[in-house]
Amino acid sequence: MGVTQTNRAGLGSTTNKIFSKEGPKEKKRDMVLEEVRVFEEEQRTSVAVAQAKQCAWTKWNDIEPIKLSWKSLIAMEPLAISFLLRSTYDILPNATNLKLWGYTDSDLCFSCKQDRGTLRHVISGCPKLLQLYTWRHNQVLEIIIKLLRTQCESANQQPVTVKKPTIQFHKESERPARRKKNSEVKLLNGTNDWKILADLNTSLQFLAHIIQTEKRAEIVAWSDTKKNILLIELTVPWEDNVEDAHERNKNRYETLLADCIEKN
Ligand SMILES: [Zn+2]
Repeated sequence: MGVTQTNRAGLGSTTNKIFSKEGPKEKKRDMVLEEVRVFEEEQRTSVAVAQAKQCAWTKWNDIEPIKLSWKSLIAMEPLAISFLLRSTYDILPNATNLKLWGYTDSDLCFSCKQDRGTLRHVISGCPKLLQLYTWRHNQVLEIIIKLLRTQCESANQQPVTVKKPTIQFHKESERPARRKKNSEVKLLNGTNDWKILADLNTSLQFLAHIIQTEKRAEIVAWSDTKKNILLIELTVPWEDNVEDAHERNKNRYETLLADCIEKN
């Protein structure tokens, strides 16, 4: 019996891997390991989904997971690692948890004393902590500005080369040579007149020589010769709201994008 067809691909397009017929011993071992890994991951996820509080991360969609390598773990401050892990699993000593663990009688937020001091409230919803949220926002923005500025400077030092698309031929019996993946960001390539405007404390007036608009942005990078504009608007939302925040920001600039396209 062949492979059971589960998608809309044509019959026979999914090949079945038979362990006993697969190459050398090492390859068979890798296949077994992969099967065990998938099985373990399935079990881990099914347990996690059942734990609503500690495993809220199972509901985070479209969020880039943090790659915690040993190298980055060693470089991190111990308190930062502790905060990162405990905030992910909601076991920080906030008012709600302290009451749950039997240390206090009240679960009201320590700062505003109005709402329950849940992790979500403390990290992104307390009216008394607004200044701290602005500070956090600016810290992230500062990193982005620094990175983009370095990228623009490096792009401006590169010679402008226009790559023509080429067709690579190969003999009938040969496989085409694999193209090397280039991890370098190509967004800034092709021109060397990138300029960047960024302001941490006030939103920037959009570039008057490009378009007249009331819209303001936090970082604007542009190239007059390439006719490209990079607009960066940063929001640091609660993980569950990442998608909504992204949609909101996208809608905010939709008319501006249409105007820019119209002006070529
Ligand atoms: Zn509060």
